[in-house]
Amino acid sequence: MVKSVRAIYFDLDDTLCGYWNASKVGLKNAFAMHGPEECSPEEWVRHWAAAFREYAPQLKHTNWYQGYLKSAEPSRTEQMRLTLARLGIEDPERAKRLSQAYMEERDGALKLFEDAVTVLDALAVKYPLGLITNGPADVQRQEIATLGIGHYFQNVFIEGEMGEGKPVRAVFERAEQAVNCQPDELLMVGNSYSHDIRPALDYGWHAVWIRRDSDVPPSVDGKDAAPEKLPAEAPEPDMTISELSELLPLLLSS
Ligand SMILES: [Mg+2]
Repeated sequence: MVKSVRAIYFDLDDTLCGYWNASKVGLKNAFAMHGPEECSPEEWVRHWAAAFREYAPQLKHTNWYQGYLKSAEPSRTEQMRLTLARLGIEDPERAKRLSQAYMEERDGALKLFEDAVTVLDALAVKYPLGLITNGPADVQRQEIATLGIGHYFQNVFIEGEMGEGKPVRAVFERAEQAVNCQPDELLMVGNSYSHDIRPALDYGWHAVWIRRDSDVPPSVDGKDAAPEKLPAEAPEPDMTISELSELLPLLLSS
């Protein structure tokens, strides 16, 4: 694999930075600051998670999606409204305060994984690096700024800016064209099998799957709280790693 790779694309959330951890901190702090007293902050987070599980899968198929691509605020506030509504509370102003506090507290808690800078510094010497990340344009741009990593990437592809995201083939084709590479000259590094790894393999790229034990969204029920597994009969990635630094011997050895 190393021989043919000429450019590397990274996913952002939970590949380079701990988004789920930041999200958990952000939610807990937001409900501690502005949550009604009916529940503890932890219980409110569980209500948020239940509301999220109902709301999020619909998002792409409703007229919320076009707005969500540009700005996360309306759908984030709607999720807070739905969370409060689970306990019969109608309070749009409070939903807005919760939404704002969640965004700020999450951004404040967002951190790169410990080895990310070392790995990006080392790989950037030898390869053009890029980002392919799903999510609203405003949140993704804010994350890149907060983390201070924009300068590592020659190409940044954001779902919110393209109007479509991974696993859509056109997204990967844009990334190929941007570095003028054939599919088998590209490597995707990501934490999501279904969004990063499977599509990359299907389109002829190489793929390294980063699986960390901590990779569990806040919306997952306690009993199901485990990292994503390789689906039955699905193609294997070139390699599965648990730390970014494992990329270095693989990609710098020749
Ligand atoms: Mg990710």
